Amino acid sequence: MTHLPVGRFAPSPTGPLHLGSLVAAVGSWLFARASGGSWLIRMEDLDLPRVVPGMADDILRTLERLGLEWDGEVVWQSRRTELYEAAFETLCDQGMIYPCGCSRSDLARSASAPHPGEDGPPYSGVCRDGLQEGRGARSFRLRVIDEEILFVDAVMGEYRQNLLHACGDFVVRRKDGPFAYQLAVVVDDAAMGVTQVVRGTDLLSSTPRQIHLQRLLGLPTACHAHLPLVTGSGGSKLSKRDCAVSLTQGLHLATDGGRLIVASLEFLGQTVPAEVAAAPCREILEWGRGRFDPTRIPCQSRELTSV
Ligand code: GLU
Repeated sequence: MTHLPVGRFAPSPTGPLHLGSLVAAVGSWLFARASGGSWLIRMEDLDLPRVVPGMADDILRTLERLGLEWDGEVVWQSRRTELYEAAFETLCDQGMIYPCGCSRSDLARSASAPHPGEDGPPYSGVCRDGLQEGRGARSFRLRVIDEEILFVDAVMGEYRQNLLHACGDFVVRRKDGPFAYQLAVVVDDAAMGVTQVVRGTDLLSSTPRQIHLQRLLGLPTACHAHLPLVTGSGGSKLSKRDCAVSLTQGLHLATDGGRLIVASLEFLGQTVPAEVAAAPCREILEWGRGRFDPTRIPCQSRELTSV
């Protein structure tokens, strides 16, 4: 029996959906639905200080109204601490975790997915063999290995990374509580039975860390497809505020919904004929599902010009 794919979209409710996250939503929906699979939603609300009240609901209502229907109950990371705790204990029992007393910016941001430029230089490993005199633990780090991790991405192709050289031992938990994105995403993808990880290419370099965790925890590695990013003009970082795709921030679904879905499909290399482009969102998506050709997805990040 062949198993149908299980895809997911994992927004962080730190701002409204924007053009970039919409492309990730449409792309992951297409990969899963094109072969009759299911599509799940996980709210990545671990980074509590950055969560904006009401945003999760806004994202869900917007997805629904754009015809991006998901299966089952929404999974909320903030309610799954016990699962992360159990995985953390397993890693501790393996001797792979150590307390770290260094104060670094990667600590402050560890609960969120690292976006370009947020990873910083590789960790030097000063606390690997014990905390330095007079320093208390600020975080817990996972030991990495001096070995290349290789995977083949469905869009970006072969990707290799030596974790020791790329990032060094990385934070999986802060001393004051929150688990890091890298640990949570691995635990959740496995617990949700996810077999396809489709997301923006800004997370391509996080994937080897996640594969390392999966190997240690004895969890399967899903197929990966990292999608090109939507940039601002001249390749600049997309401003969430300027490109909000949100019901509460002026999105008029009757007029804008179909246009946004068409623009996302075209951004992913799927050419939509004019007679389909004028249809309601659900019909456009249904057309896209039937014709989806992942080999047409371009690798280059660029502006989304046609909206
Ligand atoms: N929550 C992450 C983000 O919004 C995505 C994480 C993932 O897809 O693995 O960037």
